[in-house]
Amino acid sequence: MTPANEKFPRSLLAIMAFFSLLVIILPLVFWFRLDYYEVCPTCAREREVQDWLIPFTRTPYYTYTQIEDTPLTAELAKLHYVDQHQHHWLIIRGVGPGNDEIIGEGVRVAPGLITPAIAPFVELLHKYTDPETEAYWFARMTHPQQSDFVRKVAEQITTESFADGEAFRERLRALKSSERRLLIARWGRVYEPQERTPPRLLYQRTSR
Ligand SMILES: [Zn+2]
Repeated sequence: MTPANEKFPRSLLAIMAFFSLLVIILPLVFWFRLDYYEVCPTCAREREVQDWLIPFTRTPYYTYTQIEDTPLTAELAKLHYVDQHQHHWLIIRGVGPGNDEIIGEGVRVAPGLITPAIAPFVELLHKYTDPETEAYWFARMTHPQQSDFVRKVAEQITTESFADGEAFRERLRALKSSERRLLIARWGRVYEPQERTPPRLLYQRTSR
């Protein structure tokens, strides 16, 4: 065998080895990845996170993040209802590694923060009620037991129209009362969050 003949198969082998390695490594790279959304329960911003993990570990070698305002973030900024803060990110949900479902603490407060109806609901509260009423609803938006209760009231009341403030307040009282009954039926005991005036989002860890 001449040296020239020997050289060709070796380089071919090297190329084959390289591609075989890629076939093994590439699926591992994509499999060991976390892809999830988080929410900050102070300003209602959302964050998308991708963690690229060292295979068979939970250690990321690269993390991609992107923060986005939600409609509620803009409404809170308009009303000056956000204090200076460090974002406190709570995982809502996502996938990884592979097809594993990720569900985090944020899933229980997300309904009161990222549902589209929440921002117009806050606008109506500000327009037609007093700071104490606003504080009542703000304290519950980020409450793990009551976030969904706020979402239901917001989704209903923002589809209706009101002749004046009294009509809105009357409807709010009625919706609150019927949804509260459902809330108590669901949980048995409902833990009431602290309220703060002027209104702020007040995240509380679950008390159950
Ligand atoms: Zn924040």
